[in-house]
This record gives sequence, C-alpha cells and structure tokens, in this order.
Amino acid sequence: MSDKPEKFIDENGLRLDGRRVDEIRPMTVEMGVLSRADGSCYLEWGNNKVLAAVYGPRELHPRRLQRPSEALVRYRYNMAAFSVEDRIRPGPSRRSTEISKVSGEAFEPVVMKQFYPGAVIDVFAEVLQADAGTRTAAINAATLALVDAGIPMKGLVASCAVGKVDGQLVLDLNKPEDNYGDADLPIAMTEDGEITLLQMDGNLTADEITKGIEMARKGCEQIFAIQKEALLSKFGTADEEELLKE
Ligand code: UDP
Repeated sequence: MSDKPEKFIDENGLRLDGRRVDEIRPMTVEMGVLSRADGSCYLEWGNNKVLAAVYGPRELHPRRLQRPSEALVRYRYNMAAFSVEDRIRPGPSRRSTEISKVSGEAFEPVVMKQFYPGAVIDVFAEVLQADAGTRTAAINAATLALVDAGIPMKGLVASCAVGKVDGQLVLDLNKPEDNYGDADLPIAMTEDGEITLLQMDGNLTADEITKGIEMARKGCEQIFAIQKEALLSKFGTADEEELLKE
C-alpha cells in the first residue's frame, strides 16, 4: 500500500487525481452484458469495476422463506479474490455481509415487491476491481441491472460517498482519501431525495454531515443523469434521446 500523502488537496484546490472537491470520478455503464441473467450492468467508476446481475422474479425455494404478500429481495455484495492488492479470502465476511444487508435495504422504497408475492429477486454485485467506493459503485450498477431485468420500480437509486481530507469535505473518495482521510460517509438516495443508505466511518461534526449530505446529493444527481442516459440509449426512442440532449 502507498504511504500517506503529505497533502490531499493542492494550492489550486485540486486533489491527487486532479479532481475538484465536488467532482465525481468518470463513470461508464453498459447494460445487458450477461445473457443468462434477467438483467445486468457492468460499471466502471474511476478504477472500480463492478458487475451486477439480477435473477427473477422467480419462485422462492425453500417455500418457508416465501412472503405471502410480496417478493423477497436478496442482495449479495462480493469482492473477487483478485479485486484488491492483498488477495481477499473467498466467501462471505463480516464486511460483505454488512454491505449486502445495507445495500439491499437501499432499494426498499423503490422496488415494487407487492406485484410478486412468494417470489424472490436476487441481486448479485461482484466487485472485479476495487479502488474505494465499491459499495456505492455496486448500488449504481444494481439499479440499472434491476431495470434491465424489467423489475417494476418507482424510480432509480444512486449512491456516492463524501469524505474529509485536509479539513475539507470531498465527494467520491479515491483510494488514498479513503485509506488515510478523516471520514467516509457513503450515501444512497432515491430520485425523490429520500436517503436509503447512510453509513459513517471516522469523525464529522453535525454541520459537516449536513453539508456532506448536500454534496452527496449533487453527486447522486450526476449519477442519475448517467443512469438515465444509459436507459434511454437502450430503451428510449430517438425523440426521447433528443429530449435528453436539450
Ligand atoms: N479494501 C481492501 N481489502 C478489503 C476491503 C477493502 O483492499 O478487504 C479496499 C478496497 O479498495 C475498497 C477500499 O479498501 O474499495 C475501501 O473499503 P471500504 O470498506 O471503505 O468499502 P468501499 O469504500 O469499497 O465501499
């Protein structure tokens, strides 16, 4: 692992990777990349590479796990053994179990589970290359994979983190900022701005948390735009694509 940088933000206000404090890393998405999944999305965000696959709705077995009035949504976050500098031991860990739980819950208000009683919708998020912010990257990919699978949703979910380095709040932490920064605040929200995931590592004042949430909101707006562009280019008509450009 590299050493702690002396400074994270230079005198021109630029971060180690050349971004301003309120900029997210470049993101590209491709939907429908897996032919055997009902829906899928491959997403690159900076040096993160994640693949999301959705299976279902399909009948849930064993049947005792079925919910009589709605579908069960299962979300599994997994890091490939080769995705980080030190090999990750395959299989669930405390970290991946926690991330799976909170990430699945981030979709709670949008997935219209009531249409599929007794069914299961499985979301698999596989991190192929990790470079800080993988849980947020996985949520952004999972949203598009759910839409690709035709799961009825009230809207999209976007996610990005805010952190603190050199006493300043920064959007979408890169690896050194995540490793050596003072705080990491991953957030997910719906298009209505309802926060569906909020975690915190490190120390922030109440005022910094409020400002950080506003910063994350701006980041999520940019992500919604990227997600909508991907949706329009896959499912939209030419007229709708024109509308997006205006
Ligand atoms: N990481 C690692 N090994 C691990 C877990 C994490 O090398 O077992 C790295 C990986 O690059 C990850 C980063 O540390 O993206 C930050 O991890 P964190 O737990 O904060 O989750 P993330 O920011 O990826 O959602």
